[in-house]
Amino acid sequence: MSSTQKPLLYFDNAATTVLRPEALDAMMPYLTGQYGNPSGIYKFAREARKAVEQAREQVAKAISAEAREIVFTGSGTEANNWVLSCAAQKGGHIITAATEHHAVIYVCEALEKQGVGVEVTYLPVDAMGFVSPDDLRAAIRPDTVLISIMWANNEIGTIQPIAELAAIARENNVLFHTDAVQAVGHIAVNTESIPVDFLTLSAHKFGGPKGVGALYIRKGRRLASLLYGGAQEKNRRAGTENVAGIIGMGAAIELAEAERVAEYNRLVGLRDSLIKRIEESVPKATLNGPRGMDRLPGNVNFSFDYIEGESVLLLLDMQGCCASSGSACSSASLEPSHVLMALGVPHEKAHGSIRFSMGKDSTHADIDGLMEVLPKIVKQLRDMSPLAEDDKEI
Ligand code: PLP
Repeated sequence: MSSTQKPLLYFDNAATTVLRPEALDAMMPYLTGQYGNPSGIYKFAREARKAVEQAREQVAKAISAEAREIVFTGSGTEANNWVLSCAAQKGGHIITAATEHHAVIYVCEALEKQGVGVEVTYLPVDAMGFVSPDDLRAAIRPDTVLISIMWANNEIGTIQPIAELAAIARENNVLFHTDAVQAVGHIAVNTESIPVDFLTLSAHKFGGPKGVGALYIRKGRRLASLLYGGAQEKNRRAGTENVAGIIGMGAAIELAEAERVAEYNRLVGLRDSLIKRIEESVPKATLNGPRGMDRLPGNVNFSFDYIEGESVLLLLDMQGCCASSGSACSSASLEPSHVLMALGVPHEKAHGSIRFSMGKDSTHADIDGLMEVLPKIVKQLRDMSPLAEDDKEI
C-alpha cells in the first residue's frame, strides 16, 4: 500500500483526518513557486498575503465570524495555551471542566504552579460528560477571569450545552473560551448566535493539514500576545505565517461546511449502526458518553470488561485497523483516561476502553470489516484474562 492510501480500516478521525485533495491542490503552489513571504511589500509577496486573507475569510465564514476576528496559530494546542495563559497573566480564577483536553488542563495546572496567583476550578461532569449550568453559575467568583469549556469532547463525543454556558459567562461579565477543535466542520458552530469570546480551531480535524490552527477573538476583546517578534497577524501572533497550511485550512473548512449537514446525517447512521452492532455482538461492552443528538456524529467509545484497551488496539492494528484508547496524546500512556475517570467509570473499565472515530471516508464496509475482527479479538483476550475466568456469561 502506498503512503497516500488510507489504511485498510481507519477509525481514528478524532486524532486526525486525511488531507482533502482539494486542500492539497490549493496548498501546492505555495509550497513550490509562490513562496513569497506575506509580509513583503512587492507583488510576489502580496499574492501570498492575498491568499492568506482569503483563507481567513473562509475560516471566519464557517463559524459566522468576521475575518478580523480570526488569528492563525501553529495548532489548536497553541490557541488554547494562548487564551489560558494570557487571560490569566495577572493571576485570578479560571473555571474549566475535568474532561477538557490536556491542551487546556495541563496549561491550567502549569499556571497554578507558576505562583502568579492563578486558581483553577475543575468542574465535575455527570455520567455522560455534561457540565451542569448550575455548577458553572455557582463556581463564578468576583475574581473569575476566564471560563474555558470545550464545545465537544474528543474522547466520548459529548456536546456541551455551550449556548447556555456561554450565556452564563456573559451575564456575569466573565470571558468565555471554548475549545471547538472537535466541533468545527462537524456540527454547527456559530459565533454570531453563541456569545463566546474566544474559540479554538484546528485544521487537521476537518481535512486540513497538520500544524495549523486558529483562534477566534471576538471583536472588542483584547488578549496579550503569546509570541513576540514580527508584526504578523496584526501584532497578535508573531512568526512568519504557515502560508500553505493556512490556505489548506481555508480550503478544507469551506468544503467541510458545504458538506456538513449531509455528512452529519450519514455519520450519525454509521455511528448508531456501529454502536448497535458492538452491543449485539460483544458481551459486557458499555458505551461511554451519551446517545443521539448530544454526541458527535462520528464518535463511538466503548469499555470492554476484563481486558486492556491497549491490547485490543495492538491486535486491531495487526488486522489493519486503526483506533485509539483515549486522546491521541495519551494513547501511549498507561494512565486511564482522565475523561472516563471524571465520568465515574471504574478504573478497570476505563482501562478497557476504545474510541472508534469515523469521518468523511468511513463507510458501512469499514464497519463490516471492523466487526469481522473486533468480537474475536475481545474474546481472544478475555480467554487469557484471569479477571474474566469466573464470569460464565461471556
Ligand atoms: N483540543 C481538542 C479537543 C483536541 O481533540 C485536540 C487534538 O486532539 C487538540 C485540542 C489539539 O489540537 P492540535 O492537534 O491542533 O494541537
